[in-house]
Amino acid sequence: MIVGGGASGVLAAAHLLRLPGRRFEVTIVEPSEGIGRGLAYSTDDPGHLLNTRAGNMSAFEDDPQHFWRWLAESGHAARARLEGPFSFAPRVLYRSYLCDLVRYWLADGGDGRLRIVRETCTRITETPRGVAATLSSGIVETADRAIVAIGHALTAKHSPYDNAWSSPDELGIADDDDVLILGTGLSMIDNVASLHRRGHRGRIVALSRRALLPRVHAPTSPLQLDTADIPLGTGPAYFLRWLRRTIRWAQTEGRDWREVMDAVRPHASTIWDAMPADGRARFLRHGRTLWDIHRHRMPPEMASLMDEVRASGLLTLVAGRLVERTGENGRCRVAIRRRAGGHESLVVDRIIDCTGVLRRPEADGTGLVGSLLASGTAREDTLGLGLDVAADCALVDRAGLPSRRVFAVGPVTKARFWEITAVPDIRAQARRLATRLADVADAAQAEA
Ligand SMILES: Cc1cc2nc3c(=O)[nH]c(=O)nc-3n(C[C@H](O)[C@H](O)[C@H](O)COP(=O)(O)OP(=O)(O)OC[C@H]3O[C@@H](n4cnc5c(N)ncnc54)[C@H](O)[C@@H]3O)c2cc1C
Repeated sequence: MIVGGGASGVLAAAHLLRLPGRRFEVTIVEPSEGIGRGLAYSTDDPGHLLNTRAGNMSAFEDDPQHFWRWLAESGHAARARLEGPFSFAPRVLYRSYLCDLVRYWLADGGDGRLRIVRETCTRITETPRGVAATLSSGIVETADRAIVAIGHALTAKHSPYDNAWSSPDELGIADDDDVLILGTGLSMIDNVASLHRRGHRGRIVALSRRALLPRVHAPTSPLQLDTADIPLGTGPAYFLRWLRRTIRWAQTEGRDWREVMDAVRPHASTIWDAMPADGRARFLRHGRTLWDIHRHRMPPEMASLMDEVRASGLLTLVAGRLVERTGENGRCRVAIRRRAGGHESLVVDRIIDCTGVLRRPEADGTGLVGSLLASGTAREDTLGLGLDVAADCALVDRAGLPSRRVFAVGPVTKARFWEITAVPDIRAQARRLATRLADVADAAQAEA
């Protein structure tokens, strides 16, 4: 039973179902229409691009060109004018890819080992024989194991701001509205791209502490780095000094800083795991933005768009903080404390919250996480980043014991692995978890 049919749920299902010599039966519980959507791939806007090149978005590590081949063979690459594995495909295409990925195993026309139940799961209970998942309809589904793949659970219902994931049409933004966007990351870029595509005429101001944009992708060939080369167990300050030194060294060798970042990435979870707890807290406060803008880069097409809309005056980036917001004739007067000093006052029609998806787990609106925490089946990690999981992705219960029946995959396990929000990391986790569940099944059979 996989709860959540976004990218993580689908990748987990594909890795379980493709295990050689295994006949796992998998049920995905997902309320939205269709799987493979989730927050990232629900968009229908072809201007919303993947922020990872096609050659790195394959569902399978052992077949890196699997996604690119699908794009080429399906004709999508030609239609979207994509010129090779370094291109950045529209995210809407990745949704189709994820659906195609598991089509073979679906009941109708496939081998029937994959079932999709269009419901919300509100509770997961461990039973002597396995797990029982209570669905919003009251139906109880049972299985041997459960995987929680609920991704970026969001409940910003009470937020005074517009959410970042709805289109300007859905939000009813008028073409001449003045818009303030909180955040200058990838979601801000998505929103500006949609407004620009619609011919927006109003002023757009994007505000964040440092007004830093994500860096831009460029073709690179990653450096080889062994774990022995990395200062594990040190605090963020020492680690970031080492990272800068390594980048300077690489540049003297004629290499690019991206090659160092890409070489460090596969070790990110090991680095995070070895970092002392107070170091992680300091990293979140002081190092996270710098890490994210170098790690989560934007496609070159988006960098050109940012240059264009800033040059045209459509978009202005402001470094500072929103300190006050008052209603004024159906509009909003906001006061901004500038990072460089002084204040600025703006009157805007809309405020869009693009500050990202990091939310305390219990804020999950479906109640599932709340019930897992209340029953003690799960506990929150000390930094409030997500659910506490063991190295093998088993949920850790209130007493600190790893479950043998309930596991988790994807961003919901961020507290343990840190870099587990993007497909290249999630597919590796899904492969390891599938192998682990095969071992667990063997052990259970041997005990039976
Ligand atoms: C806007 C955006 C763009 C991104 N672009 C990229 C990219 O280009 N490349 C990349 O590698 N990564 C990208 N990412 C990172 C992204 O995190 C992952 O790629 C991936 O989409 C995470 O998927 P997920 O299934 O874990 O989470 P989500 O996408 O959040 O999906 C979770 C799913 O769980 C379901 N769910 C939640 N609660 C319940 C419940 N109680 N019962 C049943 N179902 C439930 C939801 O309906 C949802 O479908 C992007 C992220 C965002 C937000």
